[in-house]
Amino acid sequence: PSVFAGIAQGPEDPILGVTVAYNKDPSPVKVNLGVGAYRTEEGKPMVLNVVRRAEQMLIQNESRVKEYLPITGLADFNKLSAKLIFGADSPAIQENRVATVQCLSGTGSLRVGGEFLARHYHERTIYIPQPTWGNHPKVFTLAGLTARSYRYYDPATRGLDFQGLLEDLSSAPSGAIVLLHACAHNPTGVDPTLEQWEQIRQLMRSKALLPFFDSAYQGFASGSLDKDAQSVRMFVADGGELLMAQSYAKNMGLYGERVGALSIVCGSADIAVKVESQLKLVIRPMYSNPPLHGASIVATILKDSAMFDEWTLELKAMADRIISMREQLFNALKIRETPGDWSHIIKQIGMFTFTGLNSDQVAFMRQEYHIYMTSDGRISMAGLSSRTVPHLADAIHAAVT
Ligand code: PMP
Repeated sequence: PSVFAGIAQGPEDPILGVTVAYNKDPSPVKVNLGVGAYRTEEGKPMVLNVVRRAEQMLIQNESRVKEYLPITGLADFNKLSAKLIFGADSPAIQENRVATVQCLSGTGSLRVGGEFLARHYHERTIYIPQPTWGNHPKVFTLAGLTARSYRYYDPATRGLDFQGLLEDLSSAPSGAIVLLHACAHNPTGVDPTLEQWEQIRQLMRSKALLPFFDSAYQGFASGSLDKDAQSVRMFVADGGELLMAQSYAKNMGLYGERVGALSIVCGSADIAVKVESQLKLVIRPMYSNPPLHGASIVATILKDSAMFDEWTLELKAMADRIISMREQLFNALKIRETPGDWSHIIKQIGMFTFTGLNSDQVAFMRQEYHIYMTSDGRISMAGLSSRTVPHLADAIHAAVT
């Protein structure tokens, strides 16, 4: 007998559940393209060299203690994180208009931002792209916001539904919150061009829509940290307000360390001080204060110019390997004369390709080829290697013919 006997079995997470199924498969040819984590050409998880070096420095520093961080996290980390995304010369930083708090990776930053808005902002509706990362609607709904979607992806062109996006944002109520992927949109790999971003910016500012940027892939899309922050910086340059959730999971490979930051760009320095005081009241009863280790690694790397440069090289190498996987997969399908236009594989940006395969084809590939991906046909290019590309191309070919 148990007081919990009546509890129903919960469903597996649609993304992390792919790895659970993969782990149970005994096949030697199995490939996991489900979860968005970088793998080496050998299919192994990777710790960046610069991260290892930073950890060694931290361990050797005898004055280092394990005291609690403040509620807002490591001060250096917060300053450096804001500089990384907004740019060292950002007027908002120079004018002390940015409130930054260290949070539990990207997810935690989104959640704290969502809770803050639900308590203190006049409009509770957040518009999220259709489709988006599967956790977004849950994070914001549980934070107390109402999630609605705006058109983003057009399956016919496998590109941006820009007209639909503009129409939906135009008809959103004034003041509504809009979730924007800063770069490398997950799951589609489709980003607006800079000209399109400028139009989105003008429309949003004219309707006082509040931008909430999610930056989980800075540097991972193009290989350049500055280039991948251009969309965000356009919205800061106009002097307006916004929220920014940053994750170091992918770009520093710190997945399990749970390092991220929430920044709120405010209209004035006074307001930023008050906003920070309220963020502390959100955080304290939730988890008191954030973990020390990951943020110390990030701060060590960001404040040392040699280590920073080493990081950018390692980041570029990861981005380049992903781009090379796109080319290899595209060529492998071309050689097989697989029916259809597969050019979106090389056009899409970031960690994922939104293949256009339907859930039956995805199930077929899992069954017959032991290839694992989310049921929406999203594959993680970072999980591929030269060795596994032919197997994937065979599977896709068989699934569509
Ligand atoms: N946003 C997006 C769009 C993501 O793809 C992810 C990671 N898959 C996250 C946020 C958050 O990840 P994490 O909490 O691991 O930083």
